[in-house]
Amino acid sequence: MTTPTPKRFPAVPPTVLDRKCTGCGACVAACQPDAIHLELLEDGRKRAQVNAELCRLHGDCLVACPHEALFVWKWQHSDHRHPAKPEG
Ligand code: SF4
Repeated sequence: MTTPTPKRFPAVPPTVLDRKCTGCGACVAACQPDAIHLELLEDGRKRAQVNAELCRLHGDCLVACPHEALFVWKWQHSDHRHPAKPEG
């Protein structure tokens, strides 16, 4: 019997790397809770913007981005439990 590999998912909402984001919108289409939208910059370019309050940490945007423009500072495993808030 083999032990299933724990699924990794973001512990915090993704950060958009400005220098890599082309504003293609692939992450917007992939995000189920509509937590990402494109903002229009002063120079006319578009850039993804993550709404941390709507993000449910699915990680679909990370997979969808063809330019590796979404970055996660911290990952956790599905079998590793963290309390939402410190107890006490
Ligand atoms: S998929 Fe990647 S490159 Fe495209 S808008 Fe989203 S973050 Fe930017």
